[in-house]
Amino acid sequence: MHKLRLYPDVSLMQKAERIGNIDSSIKKLADDMLSVMATNGGIGLAANQVGALKRIVVVRAEELSGIDDLPSVFINPVVTQSSSEEVDSSESCLSFPALTFVVKRPKSLVIRALTLDEKETEVEANDLFAACLSHEIEHLDGITLIDKVSKTQKKIYIDKLNRFKKLIAKHSAK
Ligand SMILES: [Zn+2]
Repeated sequence: MHKLRLYPDVSLMQKAERIGNIDSSIKKLADDMLSVMATNGGIGLAANQVGALKRIVVVRAEELSGIDDLPSVFINPVVTQSSSEEVDSSESCLSFPALTFVVKRPKSLVIRALTLDEKETEVEANDLFAACLSHEIEHLDGITLIDKVSKTQKKIYIDKLNRFKKLIAKHSAK
């Protein structure tokens, strides 16, 4: 079972590899990712976040878009179009528990990817859905929210995260 990795786990800073064969190990990885996302109440998750350097993301696409029949597993996703209009996006990340970041995201984008059953899919996304896809696809290149803030902010976020981790460690020691 793949487990959630928290910052500064090294896999969060590495580039994931393109997937050639969608074999049983990839299907198992996707399953694990869906359950880690569900258990932790996330809306998206990239493979780097469970320590697997494979280009695969899972996203609650139907909920975020309001469209039925969208896949929730995207393999080798690529952004093919991105609006020049950017919006402020208030985001959290399962690898940075208890933190919220405000970052810039394109208001809309189009991605192309493979589904788990090896079909090519193209998805158009707006607002929160677009932000979520952009966030997860950046993870595959080793980019996380903390890379998108200033140096001063970065220090503040790391301090907060460390305090939170201590609190959790204290609780689980009891
Ligand atoms: Zn994230």
